[in-house]
Amino acid sequence: MTHPLDPLPAPETIIVETHRVSCDGGGGALGHPIVFYEMGDEDFVECKYCDRRFVLKGSAADPGVKS
Ligand SMILES: [Zn+2]
Repeated sequence: MTHPLDPLPAPETIIVETHRVSCDGGGGALGHPIVFYEMGDEDFVECKYCDRRFVLKGSAADPGVKS
């Protein structure tokens, strides 16, 4: 049984090792034109098309980092 009003799934978090990232939404029906982002002074950036969050590996924003 499906529920059409189900909330959208949480955006993905992608761990990256450089401040410059590219995103094409993963291709397929959910894809979008490839775009490039530069984090600048931040440790993460969010894709304006698909809301994926790119997080710099080892940064404070990396959910895998144990403090
Ligand atoms: Zn994207």
